[in-house]
Amino acid sequence: MQYQIPKGLFDILPYGVEHTWQLSERWQYVEQIMRKVAHDYSLKEVRTPVFERTELFQRGVGETTDIVSKEMYTFLDKADRSMSLRPEGTASLMRAFIEHNLANISSFHKFYYIGPMFRYERPQAGRYRHHHQFGIEIIGNPSFEQDVETIDLLMELYRRLGLKNISLHINSVGDFETRNNYRKALQDYIRPFLPQLSVESQERFEKNPLRILDSKGEEDIPIVAKAPSILDFLSPTAKLHFDNVLHLLTLLSIPYTINPKLVRGLDYYTHTVFEVQGQSKGAQCALGGGGRYDNLLETFGGPNLSGVGFGTGIERILQSMDEEKISFPNINSPFVYIAPLEESAREMAIQMGFELRHHAIPTEIELQSKKIQKALQHANKLHASFIAILGSEEMEKKKI
Ligand code: AMP
Repeated sequence: MQYQIPKGLFDILPYGVEHTWQLSERWQYVEQIMRKVAHDYSLKEVRTPVFERTELFQRGVGETTDIVSKEMYTFLDKADRSMSLRPEGTASLMRAFIEHNLANISSFHKFYYIGPMFRYERPQAGRYRHHHQFGIEIIGNPSFEQDVETIDLLMELYRRLGLKNISLHINSVGDFETRNNYRKALQDYIRPFLPQLSVESQERFEKNPLRILDSKGEEDIPIVAKAPSILDFLSPTAKLHFDNVLHLLTLLSIPYTINPKLVRGLDYYTHTVFEVQGQSKGAQCALGGGGRYDNLLETFGGPNLSGVGFGTGIERILQSMDEEKISFPNINSPFVYIAPLEESAREMAIQMGFELRHHAIPTEIELQSKKIQKALQHANKLHASFIAILGSEEMEKKKI
């Protein structure tokens, strides 16, 4: 029997893949740049487990969100406890932060993570059931400057990767006061249209009306288009915060588009929310997004510390790089390629090759082919920088 990978999943291999974005060397390259950017902004890495108790995500991400209500991979473990594969990175990081009392060490933290996320979504190009995110979370600085630093880091990552056709969309969902006032105004506006809305939006009307704003339902779009703007409801504090963010973005020459309909899929945002879109159309155009979440830690029973962060999908980054025809450097090419041409040269080739490797010099030793032509072809394919050919002359003179 031949096994096949489940729907919506993919393998990452050094070659033989269907799409170039599945090449492992490209993943290594992008991840390397991510780690370097994170380091340059003095972020520290966090690794949390890929599954946690289901309640963590229900409370942290929000029960009315699609991610939690429809897309989680949930299972009972052998002791009948409900566990879920993580659909995103923030909730686990908050849990770890509180569990390890990191607030006692400092009231300010800058973290990043890279890892797989799991969502039972309808698979299509750019949307998988297992995807990977690079994300950051900055804890303990409620100032607008921190929002801008977060956005700048994301834009700098894309810049270093060579992405050009991208745009930053930004909005404010304000504070508690803002959302309370806006929620009421939005419901008042939508109420007369309620029977015409999609079933999904009708369900959200009471529990989470803001989510109707980013509905993709065809029947919803024209109605939502005329909805009041949340930006007209910002409290004085929220307005000042948002104006300051925009001012600093302008000062730093980071172009943006204000999109008052941008609320993002998760429940925990406050003030600034943002999304970076690539060229692709539709829901899959979001390369990355995030925002501020000032109350999330407290919701989890943690300290009253603010947060701001983002998540960006590695699959979509690699696909966008392909679309923009960005070339990738050969980061893993063997440096030295040793080709023994004689049976008697094999021992010397092995001695030499092993020694180079023991000095951390990447080396490949050709032990399969005795034909120079074939060896050279192979060396070329591996992008070798140097080829050491061991023939009778080299053996005699002990010189290569
Ligand atoms: P979100 O947590 O939904 O804001 O997702 C953050 C980023 O992760 C998105 O902008 C995408 O780049 C990526 N992403 C989210 N869901 C998927 C998915 N199902 N397949 C591939 N990438 C995804």
